[in-house]
Amino acid sequence: MSKVFFASTRVTKWKYSDSMAGKLETMLKTIDLSQYFEPKEWVAVKTHFGSEGAHRIVRPVFLRKVVEAIKAVGAKPFVTDTVRIKGLDYLEVANQNGINHLSVGAPVVLADGLYGNDNIMVRAGEILGEIAVASGIHDVPAMVVCSHVKGHIQAGYGGAIKNLAMGCVSGSHRHCGWRCGRGAMHTIGEGKLVWDESKCTLCLQCQEICPLEGIYFKDHKFGYDDDLCWRCGRCTRVCPEGAITLPGGDDETFMRSLSEAAMAVLSTFKPKKVLYVNFLTEIQPECDCMPAAEVPVIQDIGILLSDDLVAIEKASVDMLLHQKPLPASLAEDEKVRDGSDILFELHKKPYMLQIQEAERLGLGSSQYEIIRID
Ligand code: SF4
Ligand code: SF4
Repeated sequence: MSKVFFASTRVTKWKYSDSMAGKLETMLKTIDLSQYFEPKEWVAVKTHFGSEGAHRIVRPVFLRKVVEAIKAVGAKPFVTDTVRIKGLDYLEVANQNGINHLSVGAPVVLADGLYGNDNIMVRAGEILGEIAVASGIHDVPAMVVCSHVKGHIQAGYGGAIKNLAMGCVSGSHRHCGWRCGRGAMHTIGEGKLVWDESKCTLCLQCQEICPLEGIYFKDHKFGYDDDLCWRCGRCTRVCPEGAITLPGGDDETFMRSLSEAAMAVLSTFKPKKVLYVNFLTEIQPECDCMPAAEVPVIQDIGILLSDDLVAIEKASVDMLLHQKPLPASLAEDEKVRDGSDILFELHKKPYMLQIQEAERLGLGSSQYEIIRID
């Protein structure tokens, strides 16, 4: 049985040790980081910087606790993410969302460089072949993967597997572009965008959200650069009229490709050099890369910590399955019923396949025991 430490968000004693920051500090001491990290060893603290309007990320106060715990064993942490938008702009987003050297107590750097193409090709598997792992992740000997658990337009559930897979793989590769970067997963089994002119009101929200600036309107007709488009699905998600669709998606292969990419990233580390912290807080329906943060659909649950990827993901999902949909949220709009799988009902994606495939690939065990930190 793999150990998964759990600290509830609920407060029963009004003192620092019962706060989320205090409990995280206790968890990190309990797992004993000296078992994982050597003095002077560089340790990446992988997080997601969010977007200009998406503030429900792992908060800087928690990143700082992880940084301090790593420093306490003599290792050298840095906080990192891979480029989503232009690198300089993304560092500004991090700063705006409160993630900077002063707040987290360690350098904040882009793992795949300012242009998002600083990476190293790594063997993945039968679906992806090779994939471009960000060099700052590839070369570092140890890592703590801090993941904000939430829903996701394409993955259904976004946790540690997705943070490793999409999050540690570079946006694009210097020689082959997005096809061996993050887009390699997004485009799995996807067809071409379809525009329904009769529904379109020319609001241009799709054009505004495209991260690659690939959408254009000529003579009031939608067009997009098919070669540039990596099928991220954002334009389909924001269209208020349902005028853009992306038919032909192969959800099963996509979920499996996430686990395969996670395996490729982990293959660059020796055993027992990667830890995972999942934050089951502010569980909104969409990814933190969207231009705005929705209200949570599930109440705050707590923080999980483990050295087993599969165990922490399984434990996270098991906890989500026991929650009620929150009122005045998308879950209520969509009439999600008590007792149902809320994230599945919202996105209709078979996200459990991520975890099952990760276990099949030997990335951990779904058999876990919860150790409560109260
Ligand atoms: S799916 Fe839409 S938003 Fe995403 S890259 Fe393609 S055109 Fe742009
Ligand atoms: S978001 Fe939808 S309605 Fe608005 S311009 Fe794009 S396709 Fe048309």
